[in-house]
Amino acid sequence: MKIHTKAVHAGDRKKPATHIPVTTPIHTAASYFYDSMEQLDRIFSQEEEGYCYTRYDNPSNAALEELMASLESGHGALACASGMAAIQMAVVTALADRRKSVVAASATYGATVSLLMNVLGPQGVAVRFVDMCDLEALRAAVAEARPGCILMETVSNPLLRVGPMDEIARIARDAGAALVVDNTFATPLIVRPLELGASFSVHSLTKYLAGHGDVLGGVVVTDQVHFKSLRSLSRAIGPVLGPFESYLTMRGVKTFPLRMERQCANACRVASWLSTHPKVERVYFPGDPAHPDAATIHGLFPPNLYGAIVSFEIRSAGRAEIFRFMDALKLIIRATSLGDVHSMMLYPVMSSHREISPKHRERMGIRDGLVRVSVGIEAVEDIIGDLEQAFA
Ligand SMILES: *Cc1c(COP(=O)(O)O)cnc(C)c1O
Repeated sequence: MKIHTKAVHAGDRKKPATHIPVTTPIHTAASYFYDSMEQLDRIFSQEEEGYCYTRYDNPSNAALEELMASLESGHGALACASGMAAIQMAVVTALADRRKSVVAASATYGATVSLLMNVLGPQGVAVRFVDMCDLEALRAAVAEARPGCILMETVSNPLLRVGPMDEIARIARDAGAALVVDNTFATPLIVRPLELGASFSVHSLTKYLAGHGDVLGGVVVTDQVHFKSLRSLSRAIGPVLGPFESYLTMRGVKTFPLRMERQCANACRVASWLSTHPKVERVYFPGDPAHPDAATIHGLFPPNLYGAIVSFEIRSAGRAEIFRFMDALKLIIRATSLGDVHSMMLYPVMSSHREISPKHRERMGIRDGLVRVSVGIEAVEDIIGDLEQAFA
């Protein structure tokens, strides 16, 4: 064989050895080789389990999907290239054989609102927004819109409201709608939506699950009813995660419960420190006993795990004061995103809620003095020390 031929074939397509890697390697192959056409035919038709093409499935992705289905008490999962791709796949699967109508939480991640209004809307999906913490309003909206899908976030952004997911799941079931939950902020350490009656739990893996600020990814976890349809839509659309990102995410997930416990504990300390600071007007934190959804939180969240996001308003601060405060931070990173090992701060008015008119923002309760901190795993004294010196 000439070097050109060897360069292409030598070393590849070895029979699986008797040794088993302790952790799943990065399988980059786009397609898979079998001894006979008969076998490949059975795998294509899904009569026999196996891999044939990475858009369909891939061993690195399958390992992550099994892991996520297990964490979220689901039947199966689909790893996607981003959280947004995952949300789209969940909603499209939910609507596949239901009425093309979505009732979504009014406090929803900006890109999700765009997906509903600018992508699914023009394709004929009716979209209606409602406050998920107001069950009377939700029931009325569901009776009128007769949705095929109800879409909510476990914890809203940036005001951290928590809707009664178990009751919302009941309303969805009675209406024949599938409940899709974006569980990114809560994570399966705190809430597992499928256990509460949701049909889909969706994550931006980019946040707590991968956790180190170096992966963009998403996942849809679903029940037995929807799994086949999710996978077959994925075969047609191809929103899948790359195997390298699957590997990095799996590596991240192994320490996710430890990181999250630490981040939640740090967030409790940061929230209570902020609530006593004279320059702080108001703190938004699900662990606050005076939180408007305290009863729901008490029913749904385990003790002492309230998530690791803290939002707060600085007294009589506008854009200039917030810019000065955030520019003074030395440890907490001024950046979009959340859930990383390092603490990060974001200014909603300038980033996540930038496209919303000031009047509408005011109505939503998102004021010019509001900032959001994603509390990291650092020593909490250092995080508080950084906030303290930035206030000074
Ligand atoms: C980040 C985020 C998304 C989008 O995820 P990407 O990975 O950026 O596509 C969706 N929902 C929530 C709540 C998020 O925080």
